[in-house]
Amino acid sequence: MRLFVFGLCCVSCVATAPPVRSAPPGADTYGDGVDWQATGDEVVTLLQGYLQVDTVNPPGNELRGAEYLKAALERDGIAAHIVEFEPGRANLVARLEATKPSGEKPLCLLSHLDVVTSEADQWEHPPLSGELAGGPDGGSEPMVWGRGALDMKGMGIVELETLVLLKRMKVPLDRDVVLLAVAGEEIGNQGMKALVKGDAWPGCGHLINEGGLGLRDALIPGQTAFAISVAEKGVLWLRLRAKGEAGHGSTPMPGRAPMELLKAAAALMAREPKPRVHPSLYELLRRAGEQKGGVSGFVMQRPGLVDLLLEKRLMSKPTTRATMTDTCQVTGYVGVGSAPNVIPSEVTANIDCRVLPGTSPDTLLAELKERIKDVQGVTLEVVSKEEANESTWDDEVFASLARNAVRGRPDAVSGPVLSVGYTDSLVARPLGTRAYGFVPFEVSAEELATMHGKNERVSVANLKRGAEVLFRAVVDVVVP
Ligand SMILES: [Zn+2]
Repeated sequence: MRLFVFGLCCVSCVATAPPVRSAPPGADTYGDGVDWQATGDEVVTLLQGYLQVDTVNPPGNELRGAEYLKAALERDGIAAHIVEFEPGRANLVARLEATKPSGEKPLCLLSHLDVVTSEADQWEHPPLSGELAGGPDGGSEPMVWGRGALDMKGMGIVELETLVLLKRMKVPLDRDVVLLAVAGEEIGNQGMKALVKGDAWPGCGHLINEGGLGLRDALIPGQTAFAISVAEKGVLWLRLRAKGEAGHGSTPMPGRAPMELLKAAAALMAREPKPRVHPSLYELLRRAGEQKGGVSGFVMQRPGLVDLLLEKRLMSKPTTRATMTDTCQVTGYVGVGSAPNVIPSEVTANIDCRVLPGTSPDTLLAELKERIKDVQGVTLEVVSKEEANESTWDDEVFASLARNAVRGRPDAVSGPVLSVGYTDSLVARPLGTRAYGFVPFEVSAEELATMHGKNERVSVANLKRGAEVLFRAVVDVVVP
């Protein structure tokens, strides 16, 4: 998963309040009938075991994770289908069929089975332990520790529990509800790409996946913003290559590859991209401002005033700036081997550019090529490119997630965001699926940083509340 941050766009889409249905009468009885204490305990135990299953990618070995989930589903009589697309690499599909079909396409709950690597010696509790212990530095709040607790085995278990509860509570379904757990999200989305090409792809009308989550003090001190990702930036990965004569380090000469590479990299990084606010940011600010009130709340609710008074501040923070601009940065240098006194004939730099919805990667590439056209012996090669994509938030699934995220939480708001990184949702949207990224946990900035970092963990309170939020959100959508 890549972190969401609050993103920006244009004014026109903001004024329209989504006229989507609220919860159907009687839907609450299902959520009210669940023993949430026992459910939370069950989620904790399931997650502890899941975190102990080694699906570190590379190499992945996600078949092990898929088998773990399959066994858990089968204990409740839910059949799961595992598709192994490469040896040891597998996706899982489990379906609850509609009991009162309305013709709606399936609602899919997606997670990825793989997790990233860890530097285990830096962790307070080992990354594959699944230990239930207090918070870091002697904290007392119970937490489940392990690589994937937030990204995203915790969500995977919450989704699985949702399927199990729908079955146990005999919730009537107006559409199929499908659990999907895929391999290889962390490197190249291999599992999702294999799934959508194969027979097992259920043709999801909606997808709930990772993306946003609840972040304390995100916009306003004391307020939690539950961010639901509706859009993801696209990708343009490039290799900047410089070639020149090899030579002796003692005699500086013009046109040598390493110096030309630096010139070209500097020319690319000197770009000053113009801010472009995605409508999701105006909408999130509007919702946050409405709750806050006062002068700043008044400003936040008005896109014109946001542009006038807040844009500079938003652009000065790297996290918000990334949501408002097409970004590029050098992420590393790859030298053809040389010694301090040898000038190599070829050196390269890796460049990671991310484009907003509305910017074609090819347009950005043309702009970058123009910038380095006068640098000698330098070329730009495309390593990977994907367009950005997005889903409307004028939608019943979005509305249900947003409503249930803040249920019983007068100190919280929920709203749409643009993700600066991409997830498997980027693969699904071009197939006509509306994809929303929302992990119903509430974290601090420090906890957020543990994803892909050290000491990843999720509180027991988050698992319990998250299971309830997701179950109620799904029930509100699928009950006829
Ligand atoms: Zn992830």
